[in-house]
Amino acid sequence: MPNIPVINVGDILELKKPHPCGEKIFTVARIGSDIKLICTGCQRVLMLDRVKVEKMIKKIISSGDNNGK
Ligand SMILES: [Zn+2]
Repeated sequence: MPNIPVINVGDILELKKPHPCGEKIFTVARIGSDIKLICTGCQRVLMLDRVKVEKMIKKIISSGDNNGK
């Protein structure tokens, strides 16, 4: 099994499932028990379960600031 991707604030993620607007690229805005993602297509904010997001990631396009805040 593939290992769980490490998500950091500022990461740009490509998800397996596209947003209703058709965009598959999301920016990570906040990480807690939920992950806050911003769709790069329509700028809408999504709050998703962390485990769910980890399963939905196709690839991490670029890494944000690893130091967090
Ligand atoms: Zn969208």
